[in-house]
Amino acid sequence: MRTWKWILTAFLLITLSAMAQQGADQSSTSNAVQANAAGSQTATTPAATAQPAASQAANPTAASTATAAPTTMDQVVDRSIVREHALMDMLKTRTPLVETYLQNLKSDQKLGPVPSEDHYFLGRLDLGEAVDRRDYLSKDESFEKNLLGGVSKMFKFEYKPMGFSWMIFADREDFDRGHYSFKYVRREFLGDVRCLVFDVTPKKDAGKGRFLGRIWVEDQDYSIVRLNGTYAPRPKNAMYFHMDSWRLNLIPGYWVPAYIYSEEGDFSYGAKDKMAFKAQSRIWGYDLKKGGKEDELTSLRVDSVKDETPSTTDASPLEAQRQWQQQAEDNVVERLQESGLVAPDGEVDKVLQTVVNNLIVTNNIDLPRPVRTRVMITSPLETFSVGNTIVVSRGLIDVLPDEASLAMVLSHELAHIVLGHNLGSKFAFNDRMLFSDESTYNNFGFRHNPDEETAADAKAMELLKNSPYAQKLDVPSLFLKELSERAPSLNALLTAHLGNSFTNDKGQLVRLSALATTGPALDANKLDQIAALPMGGRVKLNAWTDRVELTKSAPVAITSARDKMPFEVTPFFPRLSRLASDANTGNPTSASNTAPSN
Ligand SMILES: [Zn+2]
Repeated sequence: MRTWKWILTAFLLITLSAMAQQGADQSSTSNAVQANAAGSQTATTPAATAQPAASQAANPTAASTATAAPTTMDQVVDRSIVREHALMDMLKTRTPLVETYLQNLKSDQKLGPVPSEDHYFLGRLDLGEAVDRRDYLSKDESFEKNLLGGVSKMFKFEYKPMGFSWMIFADREDFDRGHYSFKYVRREFLGDVRCLVFDVTPKKDAGKGRFLGRIWVEDQDYSIVRLNGTYAPRPKNAMYFHMDSWRLNLIPGYWVPAYIYSEEGDFSYGAKDKMAFKAQSRIWGYDLKKGGKEDELTSLRVDSVKDETPSTTDASPLEAQRQWQQQAEDNVVERLQESGLVAPDGEVDKVLQTVVNNLIVTNNIDLPRPVRTRVMITSPLETFSVGNTIVVSRGLIDVLPDEASLAMVLSHELAHIVLGHNLGSKFAFNDRMLFSDESTYNNFGFRHNPDEETAADAKAMELLKNSPYAQKLDVPSLFLKELSERAPSLNALLTAHLGNSFTNDKGQLVRLSALATTGPALDANKLDQIAALPMGGRVKLNAWTDRVELTKSAPVAITSARDKMPFEVTPFFPRLSRLASDANTGNPTSASNTAPSN
């Protein structure tokens, strides 16, 4: 295990954190101190000048604008080191969620490397003194336990979830000139952002597990926006992954880690490399309240449950029943949002809502309360409904090939609502909301019994056949066939954590299986037949606010069966851009979001 040498830098960090608190509104002084403090850490660093750059738009929270623009590459490196330490400091009070979804690969003659099995973990990172994490998934079904039996000893340690969190920073303790050499490579655009590219190598005797690779530094504040490489030298009996780590400019002055892609494996002829996998890690929920300990119970905002229909009459028993269900529904949705599992109401919900309305209107459904939709931020393919709210996971929206497939998914949950299969009314009792974020999966569950599932499937088929999607069910049926075919190797992706899964524990398709028996046959060689998309293709997540929106990618022509990659993990290539300067768009630009909360 990599040791965290905290003693060396503890003093520096404590100083910086004290400064950050004092100087929240007198940033130019604290910036100067930050620059000097970091400068004093390494003897080779020329003392950063503290002269304020009057010409630059002084952003109260952008720490680096208070120093003169660097004139040499050495000064750029110094500045990026300062910025890296400022980022670590800013994130110290944050406890974002981190999710890693990993697919082990095998070689398929026709399709190339395809998933053979998969693994999933979800936890909360503590970016304080040492990067630490707590699991959302309970210990017994955790990845580690299952894995330790199944994977050769040699790779045991590297697969630990923690390993995927490392590349949040290049080097948590010693990112400086004393431990690293920096070599300028070139200028390059990443999306809209012009970057300076440096190769970074650990110095001789810098110790084990140092960053080795390349960094991209944006040319305004000189923050690192991308890291690509591994750690070296490796300790005995262990190996570090290769990783590509991306940051986004989500708050003024900082680029926060959001995506990490990892890949190992060599399928060339005669390759000895036995380990082969691809993994996506996503980090979000930076702005969530720090919580999680059993004694820090999340407080409920009681005022959020409003009686929107002030009435002079008393509630009838049926009205009382409906209000009770509404209260449960509001409680659950709010609690899931607080624990970072459900995104705030937003743009994607409007799309889902439109499809739901199409089903409702064409089927003449009359419900006492409107149906709402929300997006669960996690990757596993699942849906559930609580009261009149339908929740669909981000991973599921990602892989759905078209609107009719989305309608197919939503129709099943709408059917539960229409049939009155109301779950979760026990959550109208507020004591049932009082649990730690990490134990959400132990406290919530919205699984229907098999009878209700069968009834919902039958009703869903009826809803679809009366809808504008009635003539477009070939693609949804192909989706279910593809899912059915891939299911045995995608157990983790198909394991629902709150709702119902598409498959049973034997990996057989159970959801809407009648639809899978109709329509055209699945054929990988038909290039115009797209049954399911790769992971991560549709929904873009703001790692700071947890807001989701649809990506705007242009369609790319498929040239071989290998291009289809249904349900597969692919690298990240987010389009980088700077945060829009107008601070009042409802986005995470308000100063209150950027100041450390305690
Ligand atoms: Zn169901």
